[in-house]
Amino acid sequence: MSKKALVIGVNGQDGCYLAKSLLEKGYRVFGGQRRNTPLKHWRLNEMGITDNIEFVDLDLIDQKSIQNAIEKTEPDEVYNLAAQFIGTLSFEKPKLAKFVDGLGVLRLLESIRQINPKIKFFQASTSDLFGRAKEVPQNESTPFHPRSPYAEAKLYAHHITINYREKYNMFACCGILFNHESPMRGERYVTRKITKGLALWLRGRKPIVLGNLETQKDWGHAEDFVEGMQLTLNADQPQEYILATGKTITVRQFVDKTLTYLSIPAYWKNDDCCDKRNNKLIVTTDKAYRRPVEAGQLVGDSTKAKTELGWDRKYDIDGLIADMVEADLRRYSKS
Ligand code: NAP
Repeated sequence: MSKKALVIGVNGQDGCYLAKSLLEKGYRVFGGQRRNTPLKHWRLNEMGITDNIEFVDLDLIDQKSIQNAIEKTEPDEVYNLAAQFIGTLSFEKPKLAKFVDGLGVLRLLESIRQINPKIKFFQASTSDLFGRAKEVPQNESTPFHPRSPYAEAKLYAHHITINYREKYNMFACCGILFNHESPMRGERYVTRKITKGLALWLRGRKPIVLGNLETQKDWGHAEDFVEGMQLTLNADQPQEYILATGKTITVRQFVDKTLTYLSIPAYWKNDDCCDKRNNKLIVTTDKAYRRPVEAGQLVGDSTKAKTELGWDRKYDIDGLIADMVEADLRRYSKS
């Protein structure tokens, strides 16, 4: 009989890649989703897998909906990929960040414990736990120093997952995920702003406006990361693993690489990037887009995942950019 997985946040970037990968491995996939989200299936539709997923209502702020979803689906594995108010945006609604990203995980663990503690549970933790990191690169032993309500809520979720494992002997574990992008990345993230913005710029639209160009990120591909999540949940022992590329580039370098991929000759004049052929502005910056609190240098050491789980990546940064650009060129070729 097929294994059953409940993917919470199935309509998000990671949710759609994970659902696709699990379906390919023969799983029966249940998608936990909030009832009233507009345009919720666009990613699953684009992947052509919407009809293969069995959807259940599940909102992390509603214990009853969690309980109903777990009782109804009787999963072997639960992946929690839901989150709100990522990063410093969470300063706008700090209590809600705690309520969803922190206490939502406690609600999940409690329901699993009460209904069937043998269900395996994966929690998506974040490199934001390291915040102003105490060492570079970060590994599983690096101390945490969260610097936003989102990161603080995720730290609570991280610890409560480990607490439930230790207290109730549950197979509950966290992946500490560094940034990962894809064609399915939400449009407010800088990588999608760049790839979508350039696809539109090529069609005569306005320049892209970015925040801090010198911010460095360890950017991987979501398709690789969802494989790491499954390996984590199917390891011999439940443990935490860092998933990261171990390499960083700046936002400015991401722009340069994207322009190179598109064969657009360009030059920088301070923080403005222009087309060499006609001096047309391609990228500019605005202080309003700068993150209020920048983290330290976050770069992950995923040696443990590589050696113990055999986790490997298909995409390097150039492959990631190519995948994102091609998808946005396809989407906006007629805009
Ligand atoms: P995403 O695209 O923003 O997706 C998040 C999903 O969470 C959405 O489908 C959203 O549903 C759902 N959600 C929000 N609030 C919910 C609630 N109250 N109840 C149920 N579902 C809710 O995020 P992602 O990039 O796939 O990230 C997946 C997970 O990895 C998140 O937990 C994130 O914190 C973590 N993570 C991601 C990164 C990264 O670089 N992507 C790095 C570190 C950690 P709606 O469609 O209804 O809005």
